[in-house]
Amino acid sequence: MIELRKDIISSRWVIINDTRDFQLDVPQPMSKEAVGACPFCVGNENLIPSPISCYDKNGAKINVMDKDWHIKVIPNNKPILTIEGNIIRKAEGIYDKMKGVGAHEIFIEAQEHDDSHLYDNKQNLVACILAMQDRINDLRNDTRLEYILIYRNHGAAYGETVTHPHFQLVALPFIPKAVADEISISKKHYEFRERCLFCDVIDQELATKTRIVMETENFVSFIPFASRFPFETWIFPKEHTFDYRVLNDKNKIEDLAEVVIGVTRKLFKALGRNISYTLLLHSYPLKENKMDHFHWHIEVIPRLAKYSGFDLVSGMYVNPTVPEESAKFLREA
Ligand SMILES: [Zn+2]
Ligand SMILES: [Zn+2]
Ligand SMILES: [Zn+2]
Repeated sequence: MIELRKDIISSRWVIINDTRDFQLDVPQPMSKEAVGACPFCVGNENLIPSPISCYDKNGAKINVMDKDWHIKVIPNNKPILTIEGNIIRKAEGIYDKMKGVGAHEIFIEAQEHDDSHLYDNKQNLVACILAMQDRINDLRNDTRLEYILIYRNHGAAYGETVTHPHFQLVALPFIPKAVADEISISKKHYEFRERCLFCDVIDQELATKTRIVMETENFVSFIPFASRFPFETWIFPKEHTFDYRVLNDKNKIEDLAEVVIGVTRKLFKALGRNISYTLLLHSYPLKENKMDHFHWHIEVIPRLAKYSGFDLVSGMYVNPTVPEESAKFLREA
């Protein structure tokens, strides 16, 4: 199949072409000796900054000195942005710049270094989700911040040197372009049709069923029609909600944990435990309180093949797998 497909949410064209050989590019994780002491393991606390907060197995906040923590949040000691200072916007001729203000935090997901137990343990992810909400609610008070990105990099392809399971949070003084594009495109759709674009996509996927990977009572995951990368998978709440922070129903949080664990397990089963993936949350900007046109979601992006020169120079993606076939493969994994 050689087909051009347009992603309705980003307006991006993708080339689906499975006629070319697709070789898995799965770098081996670095050996323990090469990595050295793991800074997130118990006993190596001198290698990391003091914790911002700690949570117990139910995701409830506990004293930062408590040794029985299940989730520990620390500032990244090599942050992308730092929390100190004021945002000063400046011009340099026609160019704009501002001071690199923001926050970069790490959620250590467990005391155990080996992450395999996490894929059988829904409760741990539930605690992590609650801890993230707690941190977002705290950072939200900082009026300099506009957006919070939450992501998890797994595997050697992303250059993760610390294999101890962890999520990362980056708070930004602006809205990142990928999200800003989704917001403006879905806004146009809403103005024209008076319906949420994402709800329309979800309805279509639930009706077609060919790209569904997994479905629970409250969530659905599917491979997007015009997926950029092999096995790219999106996870959406079925009910319209613009913001991940309003997720406060215990059953729904457990349901979310089940889907996230389910999708990652399927990827491991289908493609191997050493694959690399990024999981990222697209939620609504911090300063908005209600939004009918945006629908929060999670994007899971495996990195299975090297980027080609064409991808980089054209800003366009060539996906060597057919979304319907990949979805079937994962559904049955
Ligand atoms: Zn460790
Ligand atoms: Zn919606
Ligand atoms: Zn998105």
